[in-house]
Amino acid sequence: MTTIVRNLELVRDRIATACFNAGRDPAGVRLLAVSKTFGADAVIQAMHGGQRAFGENYIAEGVEKILALRAWQGGQAAQLQTPLEWHCIGPVQSNKTRLVAEHFDWVQSVDRLKIAQRLSEQRPVHLPPLQICLQVNVDGGANKSGLQPHEVQALVAEVAGLPRLRLRGLMAIPEPAADFADACALHARTKAIFEQLNQSGVLPEPMDTLSLGMTADLEAAIHAGSTMVRVGSAIFGGRA
Ligand SMILES: *Cc1c(COP(=O)(O)O)cnc(C)c1O
Repeated sequence: MTTIVRNLELVRDRIATACFNAGRDPAGVRLLAVSKTFGADAVIQAMHGGQRAFGENYIAEGVEKILALRAWQGGQAAQLQTPLEWHCIGPVQSNKTRLVAEHFDWVQSVDRLKIAQRLSEQRPVHLPPLQICLQVNVDGGANKSGLQPHEVQALVAEVAGLPRLRLRGLMAIPEPAADFADACALHARTKAIFEQLNQSGVLPEPMDTLSLGMTADLEAAIHAGSTMVRVGSAIFGGRA
C-alpha cells in the first residue's frame, strides 16, 4: 500500500470517529482531497485508494492536472464507476474564469457577483451546470478573500438566479483557533448563516453543502455540521 493510500484510510478513520463523536452519519461528510502542489502521480495514487474528488487552489496548475488525468484515463475512463470531480478552492480572477468554467466541476471560492456571472456565461453548454459554493470570511480576517457575513444573503439570491450555475452551499477557512471549543464556535458561525439562508425562503432550493474543515480542524468542523472536509497535508504530506 502506498503512503497516500494509507493516509487516506487514516483520514477516513478520523472522519468516521469525528462523526461518531458528534452523533452524525459518516455518509453525510464528503472528503475532498486537496492535491495542490502535488503532481498527477499523487492524484493517481489517491485514485487507487478510492478517492475521486480533488481540490486545487491555483487555476493553471489545476487545469494542467485535470488534462493530464484525462489523458491518463484514456481507455480506463469507462472503468471508473465514479468519474473524477475537480473543485476550484482558490481565488478566481476575472481573466481566469473561462479556464475554470471549462475545466472544473465545482468552484467553492466565489465571493463576487462579477465572477459568478462570468462563470455562468462561460460554462460550456455541453457540460452540466457548474456547482458553486460562496466563500464566507466568517471571522473577518483582513487579508482573506470571502464575503463578510452580512453580504452573503444578497449574493446567494443573485447566484441562485444564474442559469449555468447551481448554488450548493458555503465554504469558509477560519483562522486557526486556540482549542477545539473555539474552532467549533467559529465553524458554527458559518453553519448558522447556512441554516438561516436555507430557512429564509430566498432560495429556490435549499443548499446542501457546508464546506468546512481541513487537516488541522476537521473534527471541530464535523462537530459544527460540515458536510465536506478539504484535506491536503494529511493525505499528500507537507507542502514546501
Ligand atoms: C490548502 C487548502 C486546504 C487543505 O489544507 P491542509 O491543511 O493541507 O489540509 C483546504 N482548503 C483550502 C481552501 C486550501 O487552500
